[in-house]
Amino acid sequence: MTHNQELTRRWEGALMDNYGTPRLPLVRGEGARLWDADGKEYLDFVGGIAVNALGHAHPAVVEAVSKQIASLGHVSNLFMAEPPIALAERLLQLFGREGRVFFCNSGAEANEGAFKIGRLTGRTHMVATQGGFHGRTMGALALTGQPGKQEPFLPLPGDVTHVPYGDVEALRAAVTEDTALVIIEPIQGENGVVVPPVGYLKAAREITRATGTLLVLDEVQTGIGRTGHWFEYQAHEGVDPDIVTLAKGLGGGLPLGATVAFGETAELLKPGHHGTTFGGNPVACAAGLAVLETIAADGLLENVKRAGEKLREGIESLGHPLIGHVRGAGLLLGIVLSEPLAPKVQQAAQDAGLLVNAPAPNVVRLMPPLNLGDDEVDAFLRALPGVLDDAYGDGRSGE
Ligand code: PMP
Repeated sequence: MTHNQELTRRWEGALMDNYGTPRLPLVRGEGARLWDADGKEYLDFVGGIAVNALGHAHPAVVEAVSKQIASLGHVSNLFMAEPPIALAERLLQLFGREGRVFFCNSGAEANEGAFKIGRLTGRTHMVATQGGFHGRTMGALALTGQPGKQEPFLPLPGDVTHVPYGDVEALRAAVTEDTALVIIEPIQGENGVVVPPVGYLKAAREITRATGTLLVLDEVQTGIGRTGHWFEYQAHEGVDPDIVTLAKGLGGGLPLGATVAFGETAELLKPGHHGTTFGGNPVACAAGLAVLETIAADGLLENVKRAGEKLREGIESLGHPLIGHVRGAGLLLGIVLSEPLAPKVQQAAQDAGLLVNAPAPNVVRLMPPLNLGDDEVDAFLRALPGVLDDAYGDGRSGE
């Protein structure tokens, strides 16, 4: 039995298969490289689903976490510590607005925080988007617009209307003076990297402002530099959300989520309303600070734009019959295939030492580290045609 097989056997005996996890036991990472238990090397273009903003084992994160755990691990919510204060201040500075932050441990939890703040307005109706993804806990799942994920768990909390994503008129028709919040991803990640029409977020801001409704932007996947901006909404004019939710890349590999509320909205949550033991723990916050400092110091927003453009152009210029087009922004890209072979591409890529993911049957999603180098883009572009040929050939022979 190989080491991979041995770990897979143990995994299957001990862990719930809640994600249908691909059977690939990984043991080590460095930058955009990963190694499995048998020693095979992979180029990581999944990045823990946009989690590994700086790649694996980045020295700044390793150092920040090591120093913090060696001095003050966690004090729970009974006392204060410095790292969450510093991280909240830094985030607010990047938003360029007055506000307050609630720290938690995941994207779903960040959206639960937004859900609760929504309820504290005294209104109960909420509007979310079809195909949208906000997490798997019950409140976040109620906002998620994917009926298949909701169905086994009905009834879900709340009075939620799901409108077609990107449709301004549908949004206008759904939002009333009884609507507590509208929640939108600036780009729908889990739905296959779906980009809304220009002006959608601005229109959402105008519609919600007119009814006194909170605008919540879920930047769990798009935030922290992923699209070449600190937060994707900052790429658009006239969008100033009431709440932004963050997670994934924020912790650079450690569990860290944040519900950031601005202006008066930041005052709604009062003592006793909400909390979580590990929220704002100094170790995760120290990692978060290291991530933000490194993105700024190393000019990674520029790198994301540059590497993202090179990657997009490189893929499109391959002219492969399986490639329709590439959509997304920065280093959150979806290769839209001409046939629904994305799962086959994912497997063929893994066999060839490339890790990608297939959020939809016809979309291959790429989320490499923000510090991706030219040599890594080139290695990906060299390997991709063979991977597509394999998947295409398999797909055809299976018909
Ligand atoms: N919101 C968005 C936009 C996401 O992409 C995800 C995770 N894919 C979540 C929320 C949930 O995050 P978590 O898995 O950390 O709960």
